[in-house]
Amino acid sequence: AKTTGRNCFQFYVASVDQEMRERKRLEKDLACAQQKGQFVLLYQPQVSLETGKIIGAEALLRWEHPERGLVPPDTFIPLAELNGSIVDIGRWVLDQACYQAAQWAAEGMPMRIAVNISAVQLRQHDIVETVLETLERHQLPANRLELEVTETTVMTNLEDAIAKLHRFKQKGILIAVDDFGTGYSSLTYLKRMPVQHLKIDKQFVRDLLVNEDDTRIATTIIDLGKSLNLSVVAEGVETAEQEYYLRQRGCHLAQGYFFSKPLQSQDFESFVINFHDK
Ligand code: C2E
Ligand code: CA
Ligand code: CA
Ligand code: CA
Repeated sequence: AKTTGRNCFQFYVASVDQEMRERKRLEKDLACAQQKGQFVLLYQPQVSLETGKIIGAEALLRWEHPERGLVPPDTFIPLAELNGSIVDIGRWVLDQACYQAAQWAAEGMPMRIAVNISAVQLRQHDIVETVLETLERHQLPANRLELEVTETTVMTNLEDAIAKLHRFKQKGILIAVDDFGTGYSSLTYLKRMPVQHLKIDKQFVRDLLVNEDDTRIATTIIDLGKSLNLSVVAEGVETAEQEYYLRQRGCHLAQGYFFSKPLQSQDFESFVINFHDK
């Protein structure tokens, strides 16, 4: 038993050590990923439950690692936030997303584009200028851009974040509260945030109509949105039953595998055309 214990201990140390080295290597690769053109933006359609039309897309980042394949954002974005590279990556995402939205508009397919903004980005003193400059460069109207921020992002730097959100709003840029209900939620702060959209996190949508608590939470968020005059977006919609329930309840927009997974830009274009032809 003694030996086993000792072996286990050594194994444990070895694996922690390996994990550290693994993380370091990933960080090193991440540092040149942008330069090597390994980032890709995918676009997931957002569907109006009132009209059945696609009104826009959420831009979702992918890292195509030459050896590891697709590295999911949940793995590398926390790393990029820790070492600060999220600022450059975020700038690239914003530029790419605005370029694409302007391109679609020029092709007669105007779409609103939603971009995820991390807390580190929102903390940058020149974030508002960066965003405005990007819109300008691509000649994209401000109301075609939506920034998705989480409550946690706003809460970590409350006064500064709210001031910046007001400046975005003043310019006509839309703001969505992402992952609503999963972070520190405070209705007092929500009232102070100049937002237009609440996004119901997929964790409440997944077991919608199966789990009573989740059904109540999702329904409560829809009702809250109505009473505060905010549009509600459900993410992670996977079934016709979920779509039907959300529509009946007056949820405005939905995105999820039921409609489409996140797509490459060309696939998004053909998807929109087919979807509206149906
Ligand atoms: P999020 O903003 O909450 O994005 C929703 C996630 O749900 C996405 O995961 C999307 O691909 C996934 N999803 C969409 N429809 C369904 C569905 O029907 N079922 C299920 N199970 N999942 C669905 P993804 O693309 O892996 O992104 C994970 C997270 O990474 C995002 O969560 C967001 O927080 C972050 N992220 C992604 N792109 C960016 C970015 O450009 N910048 C920043 N700062 N964060 C990003
Ligand atoms: Ca999001
Ligand atoms: Ca979410
Ligand atoms: Ca095209």
